[in-house]
Amino acid sequence: LLCCILPVDHYAITSEQINLTVQAACWEIVQSFKKLGEVARLFFYVAGFRGDWKALKQVFNFDRYADRDEVCWKCSATKGLRDVAYAFTDTRECARFWEDLHTQCPWKYLPAYATLPGFEISAIVPDLLHVWHLGVGRDVLGSSLAIMLSNRVFGPGSAMNKLMEATNRLRRFASSSGYSLRLKKLTKNKLNLKQRCYPELKSSGFDTFIVPADVIACLWASNHFLSIWTNAGRWLSPAEHANVKEAGEIFMQAYCALAKKAARDQVRLYKVRPKLHLLHHLVRQETRKNPHYFATWMDEDGLKKLMKVLKLSDARSADKRLLQRWLLGLPDTWKQVRAAKKHSGSGFF
Ligand SMILES: [Zn+2]
Repeated sequence: LLCCILPVDHYAITSEQINLTVQAACWEIVQSFKKLGEVARLFFYVAGFRGDWKALKQVFNFDRYADRDEVCWKCSATKGLRDVAYAFTDTRECARFWEDLHTQCPWKYLPAYATLPGFEISAIVPDLLHVWHLGVGRDVLGSSLAIMLSNRVFGPGSAMNKLMEATNRLRRFASSSGYSLRLKKLTKNKLNLKQRCYPELKSSGFDTFIVPADVIACLWASNHFLSIWTNAGRWLSPAEHANVKEAGEIFMQAYCALAKKAARDQVRLYKVRPKLHLLHHLVRQETRKNPHYFATWMDEDGLKKLMKVLKLSDARSADKRLLQRWLLGLPDTWKQVRAAKKHSGSGFF
């Protein structure tokens, strides 16, 4: 485990939004890895750089980001503010931005990680947890549930009754499928059903993971590629890889068509956010690495636990205390892993 605690309140950030504190930390990490190669002859292969988009922006000094016209570090897709020809909502196979895949430099100042031997821009990968479960998935489910509520799918009666029926069905589906649901109740607030707002299912990442199988319409395609990712191993088979791409393209076209129709009807449904483009990259990725397998579920859970310890520690010794607590918990964790391996018949330990 490599754990680096940085004082967020004291970040040194330049006028061009370069986070010097993060860069200095990454520089030290890179030097340590290089030394391991030179001295101990230990060499590493980076499977992928993942994290939330904001973190990736600071680690890689991206000058393309969700708040700019040029949104993507992997290609030349834009929001279409200046030139609609490069808009990321172009779902055609021949969309212009695909011609520039991994050919342009997404930063002005070289980030520390780019000096790692063998580094490639394609190694910076959108994270499925942040892109779908905490992003596009919430929009899809929020808008779909809003349409279903207004079409009386959850019965007649008041909005509160319909939401209660929707909650009951969701609970029944979760318990029959053996999932634990963190979302206690669907409410207008949870669905962001307010005037002048886009509906969005404000749930935990794991709840967004559960719901797709229970809703309809354009959800079929998303449910299809998510199921393949969820059930496949570390690597997708060639057939699974091709299947994800097909279903992904269907989803992108269906979602953009729904968003276009909503805009034409002047209703706030199917929000188009830049993360939609990152999802497009994930379903079209060349590599057969499974994005679900490499998503940051465990990292985010780990961060939550580390934050709990940090909050209870004195700020002056927090880094030391955190590592000590982590070491204290290690023997028990290994015991549990060893017992689980023994139980499953695998003799790894
Ligand atoms: Zn792109």
